Amino acid sequence: MKKTAITNVAIFDGSGGDVFNGEILIEGNRIVEVARFPEKIAAQADQFIDGKGKFLMPGMTEAHTHFSWNDQPTLAAIQMMPPEEHILWCVEVAKRYLDMGWTSAIGAAAAKARLDVVLRNAINAGQCPGPRYLAGSQEITTLGGLGDMTLPHLPFEEFSFGHIVIGPEEVRKATRMFLKFGVDHLKINLSGEYIAGIPAELSPFSEEEIAMLTTEAKRNGKRVAAHARSAESVKQCVRHGIEMVFHASFADEEALDMLEANKEKHFVAPGIGWLVRTSFHASEYGITPEIAEKMGYRHELEAAADTLRKMHRRGIRVLPGGDYGFAWMPHGTNANDLQYFVDYIGMTPKEALLSATRLGGEIMMRGDELGQIQPGFLADLVLVDGDPLCDLRILTDPARIAMVMQDGVIHKDVRDTAPREAALHLPASEIPWHDKGVQEAVPA
Ligand SMILES: [Zn+2]
Repeated sequence: MKKTAITNVAIFDGSGGDVFNGEILIEGNRIVEVARFPEKIAAQADQFIDGKGKFLMPGMTEAHTHFSWNDQPTLAAIQMMPPEEHILWCVEVAKRYLDMGWTSAIGAAAAKARLDVVLRNAINAGQCPGPRYLAGSQEITTLGGLGDMTLPHLPFEEFSFGHIVIGPEEVRKATRMFLKFGVDHLKINLSGEYIAGIPAELSPFSEEEIAMLTTEAKRNGKRVAAHARSAESVKQCVRHGIEMVFHASFADEEALDMLEANKEKHFVAPGIGWLVRTSFHASEYGITPEIAEKMGYRHELEAAADTLRKMHRRGIRVLPGGDYGFAWMPHGTNANDLQYFVDYIGMTPKEALLSATRLGGEIMMRGDELGQIQPGFLADLVLVDGDPLCDLRILTDPARIAMVMQDGVIHKDVRDTAPREAALHLPASEIPWHDKGVQEAVPA
């Protein structure tokens, strides 16, 4: 098997240790050796990649993606996209994630029943490039819940991006349908969402309905993910063993205690970018900060910052990503979440980077081979032009993602066309996609 060495790099290995200079050796699709300067291992290699002093880190995992969200300003625009265009869109988006160094991703729900599954299968078959992908179901919701887009005079369910169920037997049927399609996990909407006109504090599902979903999923060895903004919905996640908790903004002390007592089991992917960008950066699309405040998002951001800060202190696993794919937070800008973790949750830049790498491997259920640069781990790597620990926002700049390797294969390599060294010291405001709203962070 061919051996490849990546030399002359500053290595962030995802273990929690400090960055060190060194080189690594890859054989096939796995890392076989990691050496600290001045130790040399490159002589064993058949080919070399000169890292030119750049920053080498494990590929990142996006913990809450919706590839079928289509970078438009409304939920209606997502659901009205015809299926043929929609799958082509997902294919395009999957490549965009990989280009930006997201080598793994969790599908948090697809806008049509089979989009995620078909895309995952295409990626696995090598038909199109994309992150290692775990496919979600549609959002399983109830009448009047988030994802029910039917109108009183136009009750056509097929136009809803959610799959509507009422009562345990309909939940069973929906779950078995998605299992038949081949999802990796089920997704249920256990709380409301302001932009859909449903209070985030609302928890519309009964215990019987949730129990049916989780029982059917577990019997088939599948995990469950939940849209859970309200305190009660977070408690439902713990009570019913729902592993992936999305949002959790209004988790109260009891919910935090429950999560902490089960922190080996649960992951929280808050989608903080959605709250920040909808609160401060959606004016162009009709959601001014004043309107966002009236909708409830400013209040939710303040609550979430407080809650997530407590979660992080309690050692509950909080991961980046979530709900990118709207006009004011297009796919590809997901690394904004990392700086938001620092600004709003109090993570250090290193902790933010670990949440995207080591914890990413864990949520992919492959913590022993994904998310770190260690011998035996899969060669999913990102070479960054600049030091993300000094400025996490450089991870939102396509030109600074100098090289992406997935499964030992180079997917992208712009080492020679990336900005010159001087560009490393660009002020953050000149970085493309730089979020000018970071200074509007809610004070700690
Ligand atoms: Zn979501």
